[in-house]
Amino acid sequence: MKVINEPGTTGGPAERPRVAVSSCLLGELVRYNGGHSRDRFLTDELSPYVDWVPVCPEVEAGLGAPRESMRLEESENGPRLLTRTSRVDLTDRVIALAERRAAELDVDGYVFKAKSPTCGIHGVPVYRPGGAPADRRNKGLFSAIVMERHPLLPVEDDGRLHDPLLRENFVERVFAHARLRALLGGDWRPRDLVAFHARHKMQLLAHDPRLYREAGRVVAGAGARPREEVAARYTEVFRSTLATKATTGKNVNVLQHCLGMLDLDPVRRADVVEVIDAYRAGLVPLSVPTTLLRHHARGEAAAWVRDQTYFSPYPDALRLRNHVPG
Ligand code: SF4
Repeated sequence: MKVINEPGTTGGPAERPRVAVSSCLLGELVRYNGGHSRDRFLTDELSPYVDWVPVCPEVEAGLGAPRESMRLEESENGPRLLTRTSRVDLTDRVIALAERRAAELDVDGYVFKAKSPTCGIHGVPVYRPGGAPADRRNKGLFSAIVMERHPLLPVEDDGRLHDPLLRENFVERVFAHARLRALLGGDWRPRDLVAFHARHKMQLLAHDPRLYREAGRVVAGAGARPREEVAARYTEVFRSTLATKATTGKNVNVLQHCLGMLDLDPVRRADVVEVIDAYRAGLVPLSVPTTLLRHHARGEAAAWVRDQTYFSPYPDALRLRNHVPG
């Protein structure tokens, strides 16, 4: 497991994603009870392909492990983070830490620990002072600030990552962010951006056709505008496009588009159409038509289809497209 402890340092090839993570999810003994919340998908399946940037805000705020547990409580100025028994108010300390961490954060995604008053991203209870939960729809104190400062950062919690669709969407976005970061972090030219965009066209189209077209306009004008302006605008549009969820219908559109680019005899074409229809009907997972199309995308004429990141948005070994759409 590759772990980066110094913000801003890279641990592997430029395109290897850097993912911030609540430390307890990697098995570090940082929880209030001295234990951990190791998540097997993260430590066993995703670890070979990403560099982790572990963060435990409560430990970084100077609290040891084990420590007294805490919770969010209502106040006139928003939720406050208090230890349960001794009533120590940690709000200002954690907010200052979150602001600092958010400012220096240079990652392609973030996995938070679910339900934590510090790290949770939804469903965190806020209590009435001394009473029952008043509201269960909140984020943790630390995660709320990170998400506000980085609204287009792929963010999930360990609980939501058990959902195959959410898991695939998160991982796909993380790897796409990493590829763009690697490109724009180097000495790129407009033609490099054109090539990058060409490889990502079908992936973007599967998420948001309108923003896909906007990304194309940014690339088309890249040679006539300052590099920094183009990089900032393309990054915003690229990330926004991927932030919209791909659907079965949009995937079918992309599959049909790719099929139209291939020179297949009628029998093979009919086979692919049949498989796309089976995917649309929810009978087979997305991996079936994508594998078949990739198989048929041979020869020079099919290079454009073959090179699309849509067919290999993350390492194939993760096998995240094997679920049947609901
Ligand atoms: S949930 Fe967050 S604050 Fe709590 S132990 Fe895990 S990393 Fe630390």
